Amino acid sequence: MSLVFISHPACALHDVGDEHPESPERLDAINDRLIASGLDYSILRAEAKKASRKQLYLAHDKTYVDKLFACTPKEGRVQLDDDTSMMPRSLEAALYAAGANIMAVDMLMQGKAGQAFCAVRPPGHHAERDKAMGFCLFNNVAVAAHWAMHKYKLERIAIVDFDVHHGNGTEDIFFNDPRVLFCSSYEYPFYPFNVGPGNEHILNLPLPAGTDGDTFRQAVTDNWLDKLDAFAPQLILISAGFDGHYEDDMAHFRLVETDYDWITRELKIIANKHCSGRLMSSLEGGYAMSALGRSVTVHIKAMME
Ligand SMILES: [Zn+2]
Repeated sequence: MSLVFISHPACALHDVGDEHPESPERLDAINDRLIASGLDYSILRAEAKKASRKQLYLAHDKTYVDKLFACTPKEGRVQLDDDTSMMPRSLEAALYAAGANIMAVDMLMQGKAGQAFCAVRPPGHHAERDKAMGFCLFNNVAVAAHWAMHKYKLERIAIVDFDVHHGNGTEDIFFNDPRVLFCSSYEYPFYPFNVGPGNEHILNLPLPAGTDGDTFRQAVTDNWLDKLDAFAPQLILISAGFDGHYEDDMAHFRLVETDYDWITRELKIIANKHCSGRLMSSLEGGYAMSALGRSVTVHIKAMME
């Protein structure tokens, strides 16, 4: 079965200004590299639909969702935190980003695709149940997990977050929900700084600045792979951030494409064993354009093979 690549033109309309690293050009970098690689010919493409308010209420407080709908500016910007703001088209982009994740779950669970990659923005993993944060409005992957539990009655979902920043929003949303095994690797100490020890189903993996591929692979092998296997997930979701690439100056890891290829293949082995290969990935960080395009391309290829 094919991999589906889900996006929407509206995801480029959330334009936070020339100085901001979370730019619409990130999606162009991914598309350009996917086409140049020839991989574009072997994937399905689908256009996302908007998430509904009811779907967002599964992962977020109703008052928070309603506040974002109410505070969309007609012009200019509304600042939600130091580096997160809403422009006139931001809500629309965020609704398609969450909606892409919901569509991905539907296509995998209905057997219409084998794997899915959501090329969306704004990203989601810093958004908490009732708070926008770190470029994120809605927690796209958390919405997808809740949708899979609500619509398809899944009881065991693994979320693996290899963005260089901790997925604090996803931890917040699932901290008391053992149906989700959440694995987050991240540079520490670093933004978002106040990371706790997690619990039995929140597996936080702090790694120092300068972490290279060997250290990353060993840490993932030692801390996650057996636990993921034992959890026997019915679906695996990936918060796919590529800002740990050594060319990305957002942080201080030294990962390269082959490291993203490696972790994706390890997750595919677990998905093949427990959930018919069902693997869904959604774009989080990644701000060095060439490295982002190359890394996403090897990630997609590894999911498919
Ligand atoms: Zn990040």
